[in-house]
Amino acid sequence: MCEHSLYATTTRASVKRRTVLKIAATASAVLAFFPRAFAQNPKAPPKPENVLSPDAALERLMSGNVRYVQGVSKRHDFNHEREPLRTGQNPFAAVLSCADSRIAPEYCFDTARGDVFVCRVAGNFASDEIVASLEYAVQILTTPLIMVLGHDACGAVDATAKSIRDGTTLPGHLPTLIAAISPAVKAVQGETGDILDNAIRRNVILNVEKLKTSGPILNTFVDNKKVRVVGGIYKLASGKVELLP
Ligand SMILES: [Zn+2]
Repeated sequence: MCEHSLYATTTRASVKRRTVLKIAATASAVLAFFPRAFAQNPKAPPKPENVLSPDAALERLMSGNVRYVQGVSKRHDFNHEREPLRTGQNPFAAVLSCADSRIAPEYCFDTARGDVFVCRVAGNFASDEIVASLEYAVQILTTPLIMVLGHDACGAVDATAKSIRDGTTLPGHLPTLIAAISPAVKAVQGETGDILDNAIRRNVILNVEKLKTSGPILNTFVDNKKVRVVGGIYKLASGKVELLP
C-alpha cells in the first residue's frame, strides 16, 4: 500500500470514527431527553416485520399504495393489531402530509397501526415541531424512511399563490401557513405549466431538502444512509402516489 493510499485509508477510518462518535453523542443527548420513550422501546421490536432498510421500506410503502389504488387493501383486525403495540412502536415509515381530509396516509399506503408515523399540517411543510417529531421517529423509533407527501389541488398552496398574486393578507393565523409555503410559490414564478401544480411539486422538493439537511439528527442519519427522505404527490382522482425523482 503506498503512502497516499495509507493516508487515505487512515483518513477514511478517522472520518468513520468521528461519524460513529457523532451519532453516539447525538443519541446520548436525545436519550437524555427521552428516557421514558427509550424504556418503552423494547429490545425486541413489537413489529419485527417493520425492521427494514430504507429502500425496502419505500418498496413496502409503494406496494401498499398499489393495493389501495386497485381496491384490494388488506382487512385490518384492530383487536389483534393493538396488542403487540401496547408496550412500544417501530413504524417502518414516517409521512409528512397535508391535513387535507382526502389524503389519509394510513389508508393510501394500506398500513396498519404501528406502521406509519404520520405528521400532518396544511401544506405539508416541515416546521420546527414537525422536524422535532421526525427526529423522534428516526432516533428513538428507528424509522428508516421519511416521505413528504403533497397532493394535487392543495388548498393551502393555492391560497398562498393567490395571496402573493393579489397582495392580500389572510385572517387569523393563516399568514403563518402562507409564510411557510411562500418560498415554493415564489420559486416557480415564470415557469411554464400550471403554477399550482408546479408550486405543489416544488413545496415537496424544498421540504425533502430541508429534512435531509436538518442538523444535528436527521442529516446525520441521512448521510450515513440509515434513513432516506423522499417526496411524493398524491393524486386525488386515482389515489396513486407519484414518487418525485
Ligand atoms: Zn393540501
